Amino acid sequence: MMVLTRKMIEIRTILQKVGQTGALTLPSIVVIGSQSSGKSSVLEAIVGHEFLPKGSNMVTRRPIELTLVNTPDSNVEYGEFPALNLGKITDFSNIQRTLTDLNLAVPEKDCVSDDPIRLTIYSKNVPDLSLIDLPGYIQISAMDQPEELKAKIFQLCDKYIQPPNVILAVSAADVDLANSTALRASRRVDPRGERTIGVITKMDLVDPDRGSNILKDKNYPLRLGYVGVVCKTPQSGGLFSRHVNVLSAITKNENAYFGQHPQFSGEAGVTVGTYSLRRKLMEVLEATMAQSLQGTSDAIHQELEEAAYEFKVQYNDRPLTAETYLAESLDSFKHSFKEFTELFGRPQVRMLLKQELDQRILDILAQRYWNKPFSDLKKARPEDHPLSELSKVEPEELYWHRKLDGSSSALTKLGIGRLATNVVANSLSTQMDQLIEASTFRNHPFAKKAIQDSANTILNERFYATSDQVENCIKPYKFEIEVDDREWAHSRENAQRLLKDELKACEDAYKRLRDQIGGKKLGSAMAFVDKIRTGRAPEMQEGSEALGFSQAMLEKGREGIFLRDRADIIKMRMLALKSKGCATKDNKYSCPEIFMDVVAEKLTSTAVLFLNVELLSEFYYNFPRELDLRLGRHLSQAQIEAFAREDPKIRKHVDLQQRKQLLELALQKMDSLMALEKSKKAQGDET
Ligand code: GDP
Repeated sequence: MMVLTRKMIEIRTILQKVGQTGALTLPSIVVIGSQSSGKSSVLEAIVGHEFLPKGSNMVTRRPIELTLVNTPDSNVEYGEFPALNLGKITDFSNIQRTLTDLNLAVPEKDCVSDDPIRLTIYSKNVPDLSLIDLPGYIQISAMDQPEELKAKIFQLCDKYIQPPNVILAVSAADVDLANSTALRASRRVDPRGERTIGVITKMDLVDPDRGSNILKDKNYPLRLGYVGVVCKTPQSGGLFSRHVNVLSAITKNENAYFGQHPQFSGEAGVTVGTYSLRRKLMEVLEATMAQSLQGTSDAIHQELEEAAYEFKVQYNDRPLTAETYLAESLDSFKHSFKEFTELFGRPQVRMLLKQELDQRILDILAQRYWNKPFSDLKKARPEDHPLSELSKVEPEELYWHRKLDGSSSALTKLGIGRLATNVVANSLSTQMDQLIEASTFRNHPFAKKAIQDSANTILNERFYATSDQVENCIKPYKFEIEVDDREWAHSRENAQRLLKDELKACEDAYKRLRDQIGGKKLGSAMAFVDKIRTGRAPEMQEGSEALGFSQAMLEKGREGIFLRDRADIIKMRMLALKSKGCATKDNKYSCPEIFMDVVAEKLTSTAVLFLNVELLSEFYYNFPRELDLRLGRHLSQAQIEAFAREDPKIRKHVDLQQRKQLLELALQKMDSLMALEKSKKAQGDET
């Protein structure tokens, strides 16, 4: 068994993951030959299957790095393209098709590409070997194969036939060896013929004497010698090729042919047959591997030293794996979530909800009480304006009773359940987004989405139950609102504060408007709109442009008037609330702002109780669990890796560390391999 080759192939697989650099390349057997020299036939004989692209135009356009792995304990033969993630391909015609596609993917204008295709074949019928198939040399430049292509193929082959690779120079017996492009190329890089194996194909096409002479070649001596073969592959596509190992068919054929002729017998001193070629390849590669042990080991050492140095300088040797990174990120996120839960409790929910209801109160008041322009207050008939009479309301006046009852039920029948649940759920969702943005997860779309999904799942699940509960519990307020003195006093303060804030908002908006278009312009636009409204500009119709006022400017004028009126009304109402008239609950019909606040306070207090139990507590309990489910141990290794790699900084760290670890592993294997070789040698020396 060729232990060394096998182990070295293992090491090479590790090094390939590191991102192999030139120095780390391990020896392979590079197959070169002219087009139609029989190169593919030889390779397929060694593998035992037809799998290489065939076709009339040049089909090998990229190097194929072919790794053969002997699997003595398995009856399944299959191929894998490690870069493509296609899995195990057991049908060799599929491998052939994939190789053809990969080759044809090279644009016509580029002709050839030096980007290699990696293919590994596992079978109990193949030896452990590492081969590289290259595009065939072009003999005669045909019309559709430009001169330039010839040069490109030469360049590509030259790159691969450098030491420590072994060259398998394929030439056909029916072509004069002096004309063999493969041998000529090999001689340029291996002038003493020390690492070239000559393969002479189509031995059946020449006279046995001539054939035998070629194999004994004196003109182009090679230390590793020549092997003659007859590799005519059985008709492709037939049952034959699919079910019978190509090598055994060819060997049978070769035995029959070479057996007939004494020129090829054991005593003749020539080597013939694909089977012998295969053995030779194994032995030569094994020996080459042995020779390159020290060099490869040194190269790995050097790479490792560089990686270790960089790791120390850049990361102070701090270990980081995708798993630990995810676990740490998740822990720290959960920690910040815990902190958040302590800051966002019942008082905060209460405030949120009350603020929301305050806005609704302002809307309702505006609709039902403040719904006439302020200027109308000064008009002849004070009863035309709802606010003018408010301070003088008699307790039994039905009109005002209905107005206040209507306003209060507009609030209680708003759909408080849904509204309250929505407000809190939206706030939680927004705050989770903020937590994400403040965490390491902000650079990870996958985790970000997982966290958002976690939050939304729980919030959605709890939504209907919570909103129903809340709605149910505020039901009594839809019919009757009792208010005591203490509540009244408290709400009186609230209402004053609310109006004060609203006034400020109005004044700020007015200022912004004025700054935007200038005080003078705004003033005249407002005056003009006023005139239109009061009918003092009859020739003007709203909607038409006039006196240099554009539609947009008229719009601004209207906005200015609205803000001014609203500010005036609010100021007036603030005075009213401050006055003695609004000091007691007995005058509630004159002070709707205060009464509405009483209602809102009651709604809020009741709603908060259920929001807390049904939504907040549930969310706080379930959210970390949901996170574990989506970002914890259930993720596959590949998902965790993909997650960590989303952050470029982390990716660099993990990559470097992985590189270092892989190099360490490769070196460790290398060391034990060298120790093994040493002991084998010592044993050999003793005997
Ligand atoms: P490549 O272009 O160098 O890969 O050559 P192929 O392996 O495709 O072979 C070219 C042609 O030569 C095919 O038609 C093969 O069947 C034929 N061929 C290959 N080896 C032999 C052989 O040993 N004897 C004979 N008679 N034909 C062969």
